[in-house]
Parts: sequence; C-alpha cells; structure tokens
Amino acid sequence: MASPIAHTFGGFWTFLILAAQLKTRLAAQWRQWLPRLGVLMLVANLPDLDFLPVLFNGSAKNLHHSFTHSLIFAILVSLILSSAWRIAPGFWRSTLLYFTAYSSHLLIDFFTGTKIGWTHTGFGMPLFWPWSKEFSSPLILTFGVRHKTFAALFSLDNIWSCTYELLTCGAITAIILVLWKARLNSRNRFTLSEAPVAERRA
Ligand SMILES: [Zn+2]
Repeated sequence: MASPIAHTFGGFWTFLILAAQLKTRLAAQWRQWLPRLGVLMLVANLPDLDFLPVLFNGSAKNLHHSFTHSLIFAILVSLILSSAWRIAPGFWRSTLLYFTAYSSHLLIDFFTGTKIGWTHTGFGMPLFWPWSKEFSSPLILTFGVRHKTFAALFSLDNIWSCTYELLTCGAITAIILVLWKARLNSRNRFTLSEAPVAERRA
C-alpha cells in the first residue's frame, strides 16, 4: 500500500476538480472550502481502514487490502456519503466526487509495489470483490509501505518511501497549480480585452 501521504494528495487533487467545476476563487474563499477539502482527503484514505487491526493485534497481513479496496465498496461508500452530505450541488455530482476521491486510493495502490519500474511487484487488490482475484499494475510507480508489524511501520525504508511520495506528489501538485494559474490568467486577460468591446456595443 502507498502511505497516507500519497492518498491525501489524491483527496486534494479531487478537491481541485470540485473547485474547477464550481469556478471558485480558492485563495479568496479558502476558509469556506476547508471542510470539503478535509472530507475528500479523509475519503481518499478510507480504504485503508482495513489496516486498523495492525494497531490492535500487531499484524494485519490477512486483513489489509481486503474488500475495502474494491469498486463495489467504492460505489457503496460514495452513495452513502452523498446521502449524508452533498459535497457538490446535486446528489449524483456529489456521489461522483466521493467516488473519484475513493477510487484515487485504488488507482494509487494499483501502481504501488516493492520496486519501481516494469517489475510486476504490485501488492494486488480484490478490485472486483466478491471475486477474490487480485489486481495490480505490472508498472510500479511508487513504493509500498512495509506494515507486516507495527514496528516495521517506522523503518528507514518507510521513511524513504514517504519522502519519495511527498516529492513526487508535491511536484505533480505544483505542475497542476502552475497550469491552473496560467489558465486563470489567460481567462482574466480574455475577459479584460472583451470588456471595452462590450462597452462599445452597449
Ligand atoms: Zn490502500
């Protein structure tokens, strides 16, 4: 599994989709959007709740990457959450957004393994549960976190994999934000150059 760092970024990227859809000015109204951001980040981490037993009995090997890492569970959770709180205008738009946040987790885990590259070292998830077959990508883009025991969670390998996630996801986020700002600027320029024409017409 990837660490909560990569999955939290997944929730943040989903939030950017919502902000883009609503054409909101994030910088000016960020306080108002914080609850939505927090919820989407939580939803993106939700599938790893099956990891909780490690905290109690020291080993979650058999439980982790269980049915919570399946599409049917993603749909179910999205429908329930959307019934509880419309995070976007409309039930189905909310469901889709929750689903995007939840499945960002599945997507990241799909490309997670022990060795970067075309290595077939993915951990596997029962994507089409209750069918027990496990799926993972032959191409591995991010390291997994070692979690066989509670102590292993704090190993040097895990510190390195968390740093790797922080750097790669941070770089992807920076690129998205730069592109976003460039798009906003060009839209503003377009609006400004349109204004005198509109005034002249009036
Ligand atoms: Zn996971």
